[in-house]
Amino acid sequence: MIYIIATPIGNLKDITIRALEALNESELIYCEDTRNTSVLLNHYEIKKKLVSFHEHNELKRSEEIIAYAKEGKVISIVSDAGMPGISDPGSKLIGELIRQEIEYTVLPGPSAFTTALVYSGLNNDVFKFIGFLPVKGKARKEKLEMIKNEKDTVMLYEAPHKLDKTMADLVEIIPNRRISVVRELTKIYESQTTFLIKDYENQDIVKKGEMVLVIDKDEETIEINDEFIIEKLEEAIGRGLRKKEAVSEVVDTYGLNKNRVYKLSIDIEA
Ligand code: SAM
Repeated sequence: MIYIIATPIGNLKDITIRALEALNESELIYCEDTRNTSVLLNHYEIKKKLVSFHEHNELKRSEEIIAYAKEGKVISIVSDAGMPGISDPGSKLIGELIRQEIEYTVLPGPSAFTTALVYSGLNNDVFKFIGFLPVKGKARKEKLEMIKNEKDTVMLYEAPHKLDKTMADLVEIIPNRRISVVRELTKIYESQTTFLIKDYENQDIVKKGEMVLVIDKDEETIEINDEFIIEKLEEAIGRGLRKKEAVSEVVDTYGLNKNRVYKLSIDIEA
């Protein structure tokens, strides 16, 4: 069995009982930085052989892991923090495991982007996770263009020393969108600061530690008129919801007056 295990993003207590059991059961633990993972394992008094597994040796290591798995060894894969495969190595390995029909499972747990999305309090009905922006060149321009055209919530990982540059780019393309800078999740100085992108210069954000940027959806593009509400009600009914359920869904999703939505639903055939 191969366990792909989510690990804490700061607070060592955010490990699951299943994760500890799997780590204890493993003969080998593949991790990004052995010093980092040692801190977690020492805390839980788990003594295992650690092997490095990072973006530069993922393919080579995958072959090795598969060979061990075929011998019947139990192996765990972790990254420095959070869920392996999310802006971290892991997905190439999983692709290979699927191709070679090797048994594996993923043990859920913390991930910075899901925690940040909820922590930000911004719209999360539909969102796009971009991970780290490319540092420069055409690749960065293309991603920024994608963000400019994206109307739903967008999430980015960012290093604190690159925050000014990224915010300057965002001020140019989407000055009127709200953004939440969520820092140091699960740690002592956990915080969020939410503001209009064009007001970045007036914010007092500590540029240290780890951070996630959550850009709110473009509210200006949605005009919630009667036509829009009827369209959303029809969509919900089309998905199999009863009229009453469709009304509740539209009321909750768009924060609307229940009477207004109910009245508009009367003439819709269900
Ligand atoms: N695999 C990880 C996950 O599931 O979240 C992400 C790994 S990525 C290499 C590291 C980035 O995640 C950091 O640069 C930061 O943007 C974000 N991050 C990780 N821990 C965080 C925390 N405690 N608070 C805020 N952001 C965090």
